[in-house]
Amino acid sequence: MERHHETSTSTAAAGTTSSADVPLIASPYDLRISLGDKVGEAGVREALETGETGFVHSFTTGSAVDGPGVRIVAWLTACQFRCVYCHNPDTWKLTNGIPVTVARAVEVIRKYRHGLDTMKGGLTISGGEPLLQHRFVLRVFGAAKEMGVHTALDSNGYLGDRLTDADLKSVDLVLLDLKAFSEELHRRLTGMDNQPVHKFARRLAELNRPIWVRFVLVPGWTDDPAEIERVASFAAQLGNVQRVDVLPFHQMGKFKWEKLAMDYALRETEPPSQETTEKAVNQFRAKGLKAY
Ligand code: SF4
Repeated sequence: MERHHETSTSTAAAGTTSSADVPLIASPYDLRISLGDKVGEAGVREALETGETGFVHSFTTGSAVDGPGVRIVAWLTACQFRCVYCHNPDTWKLTNGIPVTVARAVEVIRKYRHGLDTMKGGLTISGGEPLLQHRFVLRVFGAAKEMGVHTALDSNGYLGDRLTDADLKSVDLVLLDLKAFSEELHRRLTGMDNQPVHKFARRLAELNRPIWVRFVLVPGWTDDPAEIERVASFAAQLGNVQRVDVLPFHQMGKFKWEKLAMDYALRETEPPSQETTEKAVNQFRAKGLKAY
């Protein structure tokens, strides 16, 4: 998501490797590959079925852009989307992440909980796509809630059906990517259909669960005012969108595509101008949304 998984720029305060097995780093932009390869197929299956272990790219602390206040962010690996502008393609593969037990993840949160409370922040789980490891996410969120820590799920929304209404009680906020409204454009951008995303957004609205929308502005792809209008209308009609972040595309993840020898369609794409970004923000504001 992202600051979603595609556009994150951490204001991380910590820059060291934590004790034991949890990679606590300054930025999700560290390239990480094959960290979980040793787990093997049976271990992966067990991890996904029980949620006892999650595959984590990294933890970052001090984020001020992944939900309210100052937050700790767990970046999970695995994603079923293939966004042309993804800034973290090393998170696509589950076993690029390091296996981390729920107990270990909870230990990290416990260590920071007082600071998070003081800074009116919480825990955000991002990715990759966290709902591919929904059992792990729910266990960690459940433990966070018991500690009184605010929880935010940063998701592309495609697998929202995996969460029951009861599960959603442990999610205080959903940071939802609306990548494009038009089906054809969404498919070209991500490789996937957007109907499940819309269905999840509507369900959250019915349940009156808050959403912060993330919209990535990419010149030549998502900067058509008519398309932005459609996304803004959809978001405004939901009634539970508290905030919209228009995230200007940038090239901070380019080196990952190159290192992974992947074909990067946006190699030559420039970030949008400030004027274009402001216009997009204003289109959301014109629908009565709080947009930045
Ligand atoms: S491919 Fe996945 S991780 Fe990358 S931007 Fe898209 S949804 Fe996010």
